[in-house]
Amino acid sequence: MKLFSTKNKNKKKVLFLDRDGVINKDKAGEYITDIGKVKIYSSALKALKEISETRKYLLIIITNQSAVGRGFITLKRSKEINYKILKILKKNGIKISALYYCPHSPKDNCSCRKPKTGMIKEAFKDFRIDKEGSFLIGDKKSDIQTAINAGLKSVLVMTGQGKKTLSKEKISYNFKIKDLRGLKKII
Ligand SMILES: [Mg+2]
Ligand SMILES: [Zn+2]
Repeated sequence: MKLFSTKNKNKKKVLFLDRDGVINKDKAGEYITDIGKVKIYSSALKALKEISETRKYLLIIITNQSAVGRGFITLKRSKEINYKILKILKKNGIKISALYYCPHSPKDNCSCRKPKTGMIKEAFKDFRIDKEGSFLIGDKKSDIQTAINAGLKSVLVMTGQGKKTLSKEKISYNFKIKDLRGLKKII
């Protein structure tokens, strides 16, 4: 018989963030293969800075980078782009607790490419996560499906390919926001 337990108090709520089209600009069918092409949404900087300051959520990026597996970009270059994005975020007062990426192509049939949940599982190994209080935010069907597969609340964002996803795909998401500033109304 347990009178009480404080164990769960140490669990952290997480915002799992897709990268392209959510944090930085993204065009359909175009891969980010060049550091110079990385443009971060100012709305994302503002929103994530505010969230960082409250310290109520860990921010974790989960990103499919099949440009590597498809041979459009080297793994080294892909890492450089990720580091560059992290550096810009840090400079803007945003603390990212982890970044997980899938470098595989769809043909590789890996367990990390969204909508599979490999990256989420890795995060659950690395952190003590309060699943019920966590969200996954993305602009594509694969993001929403990842949230469903992992049992996380899903947020469809209208930046990046969000509008196209909304009009073309049959999906059931939990929340829809214009850009990341909309998060404060739901978290
Ligand atoms: Mg995306
Ligand atoms: Zn993978």
